[in-house]
Amino acid sequence: MTRSAAYLVDFDGTVTTKDLSSALAVFFGGDRCLEVEALYRKRKICIREWLINIARLLPPDPDLLLSKTLEWAVIRPGFEQFIAYAREQGSPVVIASDGFGFYIEPILEKFGFLDCIDWIYANRTVVGAGGLLAVQTPHAHPVCPVCGNCKAIHVLKLKEAGYPVIYVGDGSNDRFGAFWSDHICARDRLANVCREHDIKFSPWVDFYDIIKVDKPAITDRADRSLCCPMGSGIKK
Ligand SMILES: [Mg+2]
Repeated sequence: MTRSAAYLVDFDGTVTTKDLSSALAVFFGGDRCLEVEALYRKRKICIREWLINIARLLPPDPDLLLSKTLEWAVIRPGFEQFIAYAREQGSPVVIASDGFGFYIEPILEKFGFLDCIDWIYANRTVVGAGGLLAVQTPHAHPVCPVCGNCKAIHVLKLKEAGYPVIYVGDGSNDRFGAFWSDHICARDRLANVCREHDIKFSPWVDFYDIIKVDKPAITDRADRSLCCPMGSGIKK
């Protein structure tokens, strides 16, 4: 018998209504930010390059950046009820983010959720050499250059531990982790990518919709996946 489902949950635009890394980019990044964003949307650069390039455009003032994100953060409706439901089911809730990462714990703490999350995988943003902001990616794949945070590895580790994985996300880059999961809850760009690849998913608006999703079976998703997290990373 398999365990309860585990939830692998994106943060920006998923737990929060707004993508706070993108909001920082737009607020502080000027025209150069638009150029970087356009390259990313055309898939000319990957998310890790987006992070490195945008970090250089932000003021190297962690207190200012944190205060802005705390001011902007709105938690998506139903998150509190979802957390309570997951606890009742014995379902781990794991947050994995490929944004700047530094604001995740403070925001969860502000809204009283920090102690309810089983694990958080996030990038780190620090003031680096030359006084500029730099992004550290402790959860990157050892070889693959695409993602800062290899969400596909986190999905596979949960499956190896016996949990069917329900992936909850909104962004196009979520496709790498989501396509390895046993069921996808997708909105916005992730939903578009699922349609593009003809992958079944549950559309969602708020976390009340996530509560309604049934526990899936653990299934091998190697054929539909877009990357090989246990191999060399991105598929050619
Ligand atoms: Mg997102």
